[in-house]
Amino acid sequence: MRKIIITLDGFSSCGKSTLARQLANELNYVFIDSGAMYRAITLYFLRHRIDWNHQVEVLNALKNITLDFQYNAETGKSDMYLNHEDVEVFIREMQVSENVSAVSTVKEVREFAVAQQQLMGNKKGIVMDGRDIGTTVFPYAELKIFVVADPAVRVERRYKEMFEKNSNITIEEVKNNLESRDYIDSHREVSPLRKAADAIELDNSNLTREEQLEIVLKWAEEKINKSH
Ligand code: C5P
Repeated sequence: MRKIIITLDGFSSCGKSTLARQLANELNYVFIDSGAMYRAITLYFLRHRIDWNHQVEVLNALKNITLDFQYNAETGKSDMYLNHEDVEVFIREMQVSENVSAVSTVKEVREFAVAQQQLMGNKKGIVMDGRDIGTTVFPYAELKIFVVADPAVRVERRYKEMFEKNSNITIEEVKNNLESRDYIDSHREVSPLRKAADAIELDNSNLTREEQLEIVLKWAEEKINKSH
């Protein structure tokens, strides 16, 4: 059966990664969380005190960064590796969340990440989620989904997720972080978050995980059958 490329874009905490992972499992496709790559680059910059407003510093730092995903049998998910170190836990911490959108505005950072993402898709059979996947990374993807959800629902979901790891977190912190990332992501100069003209919108505010999976699986099957 011919394989296709599926993209999922949208604002922060719309449940894109969960849906993308489930979809990839069902179709036996590769799942790539492109946000994890921007988070790992941010972690490297923070650890090494790289000034991301300084082009030469950024270019030199990027030369020392190797990113890859490795399957974790315990969790059944892929973990993000930065220079062969499993950084999955660190990249989800607040300090990274607070800086990742600023780092993601840097043109050289985006070129570095996009080039690797495009290589990952050269055999198709991939589901990738992010902000610019349907517009910049795979503009010719067969199926593009733009996920939206009510802002209050998104804050609640992210708060629950973060509270499990850190009980000191407040709902205000989570809300401010989401609002600030949404603003920066949709107003940056290079590849701002946009719904691609040919993307289908999915509002999952009132859908269960099972319901949204059923909907997108149907869309995917239609596209796969069409591309024979
Ligand atoms: O998907 P996640 O929320 O983990 O992404 C973290 C951040 O990485 C986003 O807020 C955004 O600034 C950046 N990002 C991006 N382009 C992507 C994926 C993520 O700029 N394709």
